[in-house]
Amino acid sequence: MYDYLIVGAGLFGATFAYEAKKRGKKCLVIDKRDHIGGNVFTEEVDGIQVHKYGAHIFHTNNKRIWDYINQFAEFNRYTNSPIANYQGEIYNLPFNMNTFNKLWGVTSPEEAKQKIRQQREAAHITKPSNLEEQAISLVGTDIYQKLIKGYTEKQWGRSARELPAFIIKRLPVRFTYDNNYFNDRFQGIPIGGYTQIFEKLLDGIDVKLNTDFFKERNQLENCADKIVFTGMIDQFYDYQFGVLNYRSLRFETEILNEIDNFQGNAVVNYTDNKTAFTRIIEHKHFEFGKQRHTIITKEYPIEWRQGLEPYYPINDDENNEIYKLYQNLADQEANVIFGGRLANYKYYDMHQVIGEALATVERELEN
Ligand SMILES: Cc1cc2nc3c(=O)[nH]c(=O)nc-3n(C[C@H](O)[C@H](O)[C@H](O)COP(=O)(O)OP(=O)(O)OC[C@H]3O[C@@H](n4cnc5c(N)ncnc54)[C@H](O)[C@@H]3O)c2cc1C
Repeated sequence: MYDYLIVGAGLFGATFAYEAKKRGKKCLVIDKRDHIGGNVFTEEVDGIQVHKYGAHIFHTNNKRIWDYINQFAEFNRYTNSPIANYQGEIYNLPFNMNTFNKLWGVTSPEEAKQKIRQQREAAHITKPSNLEEQAISLVGTDIYQKLIKGYTEKQWGRSARELPAFIIKRLPVRFTYDNNYFNDRFQGIPIGGYTQIFEKLLDGIDVKLNTDFFKERNQLENCADKIVFTGMIDQFYDYQFGVLNYRSLRFETEILNEIDNFQGNAVVNYTDNKTAFTRIIEHKHFEFGKQRHTIITKEYPIEWRQGLEPYYPINDDENNEIYKLYQNLADQEANVIFGGRLANYKYYDMHQVIGEALATVERELEN
């Protein structure tokens, strides 16, 4: 018998389990996958840490969270500075003075601001009614055409004119020569990959892999006083209010034995809409690897259907309304705690998941 059955060995489940164990609770953690770590999982392949579910860069402004994660691994000084490749032209991201100089030849912030202002005014958009209009009204036509349109249309599988404006609330525009994507105080990659963090979080805790909660629900529900559920909330309630929608991804990984440096950067976004993938990750650059070979992963956004990995929740009005119905049921549960990105139907970065898990444990075990 356990105090908690934790469904999901991802960041939420593993953090909850670690903290509950520290407070004397007995936990069983299950995961339907054959590994721990959820989407943060990294696997060593020929000496390179491969981010199996897309590039994961840890970043936070919160010192408590940064200190927390640093207990479990040593982090390097990796700074996320992605590059955009638009039909062979290379631009720095996020949009900053390097990008503006390459686009227009401008060298001062004032010239760049003026260029954006002129393009916004020429577009005459007062009330943006779709994503295209929203983006142009924020950054002008050149940046939109070369760096936003194709990428966003691939990401969502629809024309930018059919996408709602709310998807882009803000666009990071910086009038300095700073290619650091994040504004956070702390960022980095754990030296030796993320999986060691999960091994430490789950050390001494019973873990059952290849175990799908829904295939053994009755038995599993009876083995613990409470459940911490980090899977899909609609599935937990048998889809009674409908199916929540997601975007999915297909990853294509290649080991390049003859090449030691394929693209000179960990992340290159392909922002045209003729290239089917959105980005190529070259994993060794996350750890400044010196191997003679390299490993790359192309990331293709795809339509989600049941059975595929649900990566990005589609938080439009329709799906949010459905989620609210499930959330109402969840709020009435005395013995089930819902946490993490699938149960809360929300895109969370890693630092947010840790913050949520710590707050949940404190609410649960310190009152
Ligand atoms: C492509 C991509 C890139 C990202 N990049 C970053 C980044 O750079 N920086 C950052 O901070 N964050 C990033 N994130 C977000 C990060 O992945 C999440 O914050 C984190 O994985 C969420 O942890 P979780 O525990 O909520 O969910 P998950 O990691 O999804 O864990 C849930 C676990 O539950 C298991 N599970 C589900 N249903 C069942 C069931 N029925 N039975 C048993 N087990 C089940 C799943 O197999 C999974 O292992 C990225 C996400 C994606 C998709």
